[in-house]
Amino acid sequence: MTSQVEVDELSAKRLCHYCVGEKFPKAEIRAEGRCGRCSYCARPGSKSYTIGDLENRIEEIFETHYVRTSDHPNSWKVTMLSDRGPAAIERRLLDQLAADYMRPERPSWAACVRRVKVFAESHGVAIPHARTLWRRLCKLYDGPMIALYRDEPLPVWLLRRFAANDR
Ligand SMILES: [Zn+2]
Repeated sequence: MTSQVEVDELSAKRLCHYCVGEKFPKAEIRAEGRCGRCSYCARPGSKSYTIGDLENRIEEIFETHYVRTSDHPNSWKVTMLSDRGPAAIERRLLDQLAADYMRPERPSWAACVRRVKVFAESHGVAIPHARTLWRRLCKLYDGPMIALYRDEPLPVWLLRRFAANDR
């Protein structure tokens, strides 16, 4: 069971528009959200809603923009609240993978995926293909940020852009 304290803590968390995949909530957060540090991707000043805000709005957003097909109108909320929701587990695995990969020791992507796979399998969770995981990682962190954490030289395209701005 989820306790009231856990629910309150979750409600206070911020979620930015970068972290929302669904088109309509994403657009609304970008338009109406307040700037704050996202609790999920840690972007410091992106337009965001608290989970509580989103909870209050989500039903209306979905009612307005989506045809309801589910018999469980609250399934979205249940997934967010449940620690065992597939999205939450996957998100945690991805965080773990990101933390592993973005070390100055520069481990290879394949090695990190292998490690997280072992962990996932020991918990009875199937993880997506390495390529899918990479795509999701790139959605959460951009190239320069990954390079920075890994102590790698910055990507060429970015350096070129800096050079152009200097002129
Ligand atoms: Zn975010």
